[in-house]
Amino acid sequence: MTALKIDNLSFTYPSGTRALSNVSLEVGQFTTLALLGSNGAGKSTLLDLLFGWKPSSNIFLFGKPLKEYGRKELGRNIALVPQSEHYNFSFTLLEYTLFGRAPYLKEMASPSDGDVRIAYEALEMVGMASFAKRSVTTLSGGESQLVLIARAIAQGSKVLLLDEPTSALDPANRRKVIEILNLLHDQGKTIIFTTHDAQFAYELATHVAMLKGGKLLSFGTKERVVTSSLLTTLYDTEMTVCTVGEKTLIY
Ligand code: ADP
Repeated sequence: MTALKIDNLSFTYPSGTRALSNVSLEVGQFTTLALLGSNGAGKSTLLDLLFGWKPSSNIFLFGKPLKEYGRKELGRNIALVPQSEHYNFSFTLLEYTLFGRAPYLKEMASPSDGDVRIAYEALEMVGMASFAKRSVTTLSGGESQLVLIARAIAQGSKVLLLDEPTSALDPANRRKVIEILNLLHDQGKTIIFTTHDAQFAYELATHVAMLKGGKLLSFGTKERVVTSSLLTTLYDTEMTVCTVGEKTLIY
C-alpha cells in the first residue's frame, strides 16, 4: 500500500528561490526512505511540505490529499522530528513528550493515565526515562534530539518524518537511534528522513531519493540507487561505494 504519493511537486519561496522542481515519487507503507542531497538541495523544504506546513494539492497521504486532513487527523497519521527545538517553557521531559498525545485529546481535556504511560514508554525507548522529571531547558543538543524522537513515538502515527535525526548525536546515541528506527520500521511505520550523509542513508534506509538543486536525481531501493557514479553526480565530487565483507562503505 502507498503511504505517501508526491505528484509533480514544485515549491518556490516568497523570496523567489525555487527549492523544488517537479518532484514525483511514491513511498510504500513498509519503507524507510532517505532524502539524500547536499546542503540546499531541498530536503528540509520537502519534509516541511510533507508535514503539511503549506497546503499542497500534489501530496497524498494514504490516498487522500494532504490538504484535506484536519490538524488532529494529520497528527494521528504523521509526526515530525525537527533537527532541534527552542524550548520557551520549562516543561519536564515527560510533559513535553505528552504533547505527542495532543491529536488524541478532546478540547481542553487532560492526558489520561494511558497517555502518561505511552509517553513514559517512549522516553524509555530512547533511554531518557530516568530524566523524565528534568526540565527540557537543561538538555544538551543530543539529549534534546532523543526527546523529540520520543515525542514522535508517543504520537503513534503511521508515518514518521525526521530532519537530520542524528546530526547532534555521538556514535553510541547514533547507533541507538538507528536501532530504534529499525524497530519502528519492523512495527510497520513508514519512515522518511533527510540526510547529507550517504553512509548513514545506506545504513538505515530501504529506499533512497537523491535530490540535487531541488530536482529528483534518482529514486529507488538503496542497492540500486547508491552507486559511485550517482553519488559522484549528486555531490559534484568523486565518491566510491565499495563492499568490505558484508559491509557497504562509502567514501
Ligand atoms: P536542504 O534541507 O537540502 O539543505 P532546504 O530545503 O533547506 O535544503 O533549502 C532549499 C533551498 O531553499 C535553498 O536554496 C535555501 O537557501 C532555500 N530556502 C530554504 N528556506 C528558505 C526560506 N525560508 N526562504 C527562502 N529560501 C529558503
